[in-house]
Amino acid sequence: MRLKYEDVRALLASWGVSIVPREAARVRGFELDVYRGLARLTEDVDYDCNFKDGCCRARGPGDKNCCSECACTFGYWRKEPGALDEATVRTMAESYDPRWGFRRENTGCLLPRELRSPICLYILCSDAKLSGGDRYLLDKIHYGLSWT
Ligand code: SF4
Ligand code: SF4
Repeated sequence: MRLKYEDVRALLASWGVSIVPREAARVRGFELDVYRGLARLTEDVDYDCNFKDGCCRARGPGDKNCCSECACTFGYWRKEPGALDEATVRTMAESYDPRWGFRRENTGCLLPRELRSPICLYILCSDAKLSGGDRYLLDKIHYGLSWT
């Protein structure tokens, strides 16, 4: 089941998440375009995820993985105040499902990197395959503008 934009906006409001003007939106201090540029770079990061039969095995059995709270956190954007503008939420609403969030069985996350939240991008279970540059990039996304 997919929700309309108005329903998603009401859901976000019920969580205390406001939709802000695009020019005011910041993700961990970064302007949207800057953040999205960083997020796109994570496409080349090897997160060393541990999948078997289509399920993540790194954080316990069954559904317990870093995406298991996707629906109730709106892809963890719920934890990023002042980061969502209307156009972004309209785009994201097209693939948000109240039960599954943005993840789908067998295909994984529906969102392109640039629309994923910082938590989606910097969480990992193993840093075995990170280069120094990858680590720097993920730290930058994690700690935000004030860290750089
Ligand atoms: S980062 Fe997430 S998907 Fe990857 S192995 Fe860890 S819990 Fe699983
Ligand atoms: S990576 Fe995608 S599926 Fe996983 S929590 Fe983030 S938005 Fe949801």
